[in-house]
Amino acid sequence: MKTSQPRILIIYTGGTIGMIDNPQTGVLEPFDFTHLIDNVPKIKMLNYEIDNISFDPPIDSSDVNPGHWVQIVRAIESNYHDYDGFVVLHGTDTMAYTASALSFMLENLRKPVIITGSQLPIGEVRTDGEENLITALQIAAERTPDGDEPMVQEVAILFENYLWRGNRATKRSADNFNAFKSHNYPELAKIGLGINYHEEALLRHTHGDEVALKAHCSLDTGVMVVDLFPGITEQILRHQLSTPGVKGIVLRTFGAGNAPTARWFTNAVRDAVDRGIVVMNVTQCVNGSVMRRYAAGDALAATGVLSGSDITTEAALTKMMFLFGAGLSDRDVRSQLVRSLRGEVTVGR
Ligand code: ASP
Repeated sequence: MKTSQPRILIIYTGGTIGMIDNPQTGVLEPFDFTHLIDNVPKIKMLNYEIDNISFDPPIDSSDVNPGHWVQIVRAIESNYHDYDGFVVLHGTDTMAYTASALSFMLENLRKPVIITGSQLPIGEVRTDGEENLITALQIAAERTPDGDEPMVQEVAILFENYLWRGNRATKRSADNFNAFKSHNYPELAKIGLGINYHEEALLRHTHGDEVALKAHCSLDTGVMVVDLFPGITEQILRHQLSTPGVKGIVLRTFGAGNAPTARWFTNAVRDAVDRGIVVMNVTQCVNGSVMRRYAAGDALAATGVLSGSDITTEAALTKMMFLFGAGLSDRDVRSQLVRSLRGEVTVGR
C-alpha cells in the first residue's frame, strides 16, 4: 500500500493548451511551460510532487512525427521508476495518433500515461485546459481502492467528461469541449462531480508485476492510408497501391468493410497483396466494424486483405509502423495485426 505523496511527471509537447495569441498575426502559437503552469495556481491544492519535461520549442501537434513519439517514450522510460504516473500535454489534432503510437511503443506498461490538452488556451477565461490538466493529474495519481496498484495502467486520453483508451479514441470535434470519443469501446471513466472509473473496461495484465517496461523506439514510416470513394479509377488506385517504399496500407472501405466488386478493383488489390504489401481493411464509419456480410466485402477478403475489425485508422496505421519497425517478417506482421496487442481491437468478429 502506497502512502507517500504522488509523484507525477508532466511532458509538455505543445498544443492549444499552452498557446498564446500572436498580436501581429492574430493566430495562436505554442508557448512555454512556465506560462502554462502559472495559469493553473490550483495545482498546488493537489499536494503532489510534480516535475516537467518540455519540448523545446513546443509544437502544434500537426507537426508531430514519429521522432516526437520516440522523445516522449524515452522520457517515460528513463523516469519510469521515479514517478507514479505521467501526464502528456499535447495538441488535439493528432492526439489520437500519438496515443495509439505510445500504446504500442510502451510494452508492459503498468502505470498511467494520461494525454490531455484543450480547445481553448489556458490563459483564456473560459478555458477547458485548467480542468483537463487537473483531472489528468488526479487520474495519473489514482490508485486502486486497496492502494496496491495504479488505477490506470495504460495510455489514455482525458478530455472534458471522459477518459478513453488512447488507441480506441478519435478526435471528433474541432470546437466541442468533448472533442474525443471512442466509438467502439466504452469509456474508461466518466468525469462529473467525481471520477467514476469503469473498472471492467480498464486494461489489466495477465502476467505479474515483475515484467519490466519495454520501450520500442523503432518505427517504420513505410505505411499509408488509402481512402476509397465512388469514382476511384483503376489508374489512381494502382498508383497509390504501388507507392515506392510502402509496405503496409490501411484501406478505408465503405460500411461493413465493402469495396467495389469490379474485377479491375479486386485485381489491383490482389496484385498489391501478391507483391507482399500488407493491406488491412478498416471501415470509414466511425462506429462499427468490418464484417463479411456482403459479397462486396467478401470479394475483398478473398484477395488476402486482412480484416481490421473495429480498429481506428489511427491505431491501424501506428500499429503497422510499430510492427514493421520491430523488424518482423511480413508473415508475423500479418499475424500480429489481427491480434489485440494493447486492447486496440475487438477480436473474433
Ligand atoms: N492545432 C492544435 C494542435 O493540435 C489544436 C489543439 O491543440 O487543440 O496542436
